[in-house]
Amino acid sequence: MKPSHIEHIGIAVPSLEAGIPYYEQLLGQKCYSIEEVAEQKVKTAFFKLGDTKIELLEPTSEDSPIAKFLEKNPKGGVHHVAFCVDGLQTALNDCEAAGIQLIDKTPRKGAEGLNIGFLHPKSTFGVLTELCEDPNK
Ligand code: ZN
Repeated sequence: MKPSHIEHIGIAVPSLEAGIPYYEQLLGQKCYSIEEVAEQKVKTAFFKLGDTKIELLEPTSEDSPIAKFLEKNPKGGVHHVAFCVDGLQTALNDCEAAGIQLIDKTPRKGAEGLNIGFLHPKSTFGVLTELCEDPNK
């Protein structure tokens, strides 16, 4: 496995309304996309900096993983780091073969039309790690 770049950094925020103005100021640009990902019970807002995006994540339900994260980190915080790979299923298989615990054994749909799979923080030095691929590339 050889990721090409950091696709995005996922940052949990109590609300997009609260988080977006700060990132618009910091990055000198407008948020270019807001998207709800029902399956993950989040609403996302995106910025792009070089090849890397900043993904703000707001929970849409009490049992959203982001809601649980915010219970521990009420101000918000870095939630996950996502690496772009070619061949996501192979990458997940390679990780599993290397003894890394997977959250997703098979890819699922994420925001921005990407296929995604998560590695468990137990195996990644505490950093929730996402692998993703663009199925249109
Ligand atoms: Zn993500």
